Amino acid sequence: MSDDISQPIDMLSTTTGAHYYWQSHWDRLVDLFGRNEFCMGFGGTFILTFTVYWTVGIVYTIVDVTGKPSFMLKYKIQELTPAYPISAKLLMAIIELAFFVIVEEIAFYYSHRLLHNPKIYKYIHKRHHEWQTPIAITAIYCHPIEHIFSNLLPLFLGPFILGSHLSTSWAWYTLAIMNTLTDHSGYHLPLLTSPEAHDYHHLKFNENYGVLGILDRLHGTDTNFRKSKAFQRHRVFYSLRPIKDLYPDETNKSD
Ligand SMILES: [Zn+2]
Ligand SMILES: [Zn+2]
Repeated sequence: MSDDISQPIDMLSTTTGAHYYWQSHWDRLVDLFGRNEFCMGFGGTFILTFTVYWTVGIVYTIVDVTGKPSFMLKYKIQELTPAYPISAKLLMAIIELAFFVIVEEIAFYYSHRLLHNPKIYKYIHKRHHEWQTPIAITAIYCHPIEHIFSNLLPLFLGPFILGSHLSTSWAWYTLAIMNTLTDHSGYHLPLLTSPEAHDYHHLKFNENYGVLGILDRLHGTDTNFRKSKAFQRHRVFYSLRPIKDLYPDETNKSD
């Protein structure tokens, strides 16, 4: 098979600036698939079609289910509203939960990082950090302003934006509360989400401000964490053997 993917994408205009721009992006993509035409043809095509279908499909579905934004309704063909089978409602609830997770990550990361600003840290957030080795119920041990601004707001914002059903909201609050209890518990148990990142935040103060770690990655507020033993252990594990046995502490280093 000829190595089609390595051919220039536009034979006719190989000298223009636009060509270099698209060609360099294409080359990086080809590298990402190990310059393997078969892998890119099947794997890449699957990822592309899946992403386009579900991204656009989910946007339409959100409009269908929430009826928002309301200006969309005047473009609707039929007066009848579709009757969703229960599985479609369940799927919608899962999509809403995914949205809440993302909203919380954004709202918690930036509010938490603001609370670490040296000008205000000692007035509000210092109280939560009295626990350098946290235990579960210290998850909401904090100043009341912090509780409203950084704990409750990121939690309620998602259901508020989508006007979610109370049952979906309650499922979300349950998951989020369980997650923050785990994060502060000091125990990294099998099957549960990893508390390593937030535990490291309590230990070192100046990294890991987020919940998922996406914004920490983006802003580089996880540089030392990523070099630490805690980072190696920062995953869900499925054996009864403690994860610190799998990644033991080095004898001459504390991290
Ligand atoms: Zn903090
Ligand atoms: Zn904490």
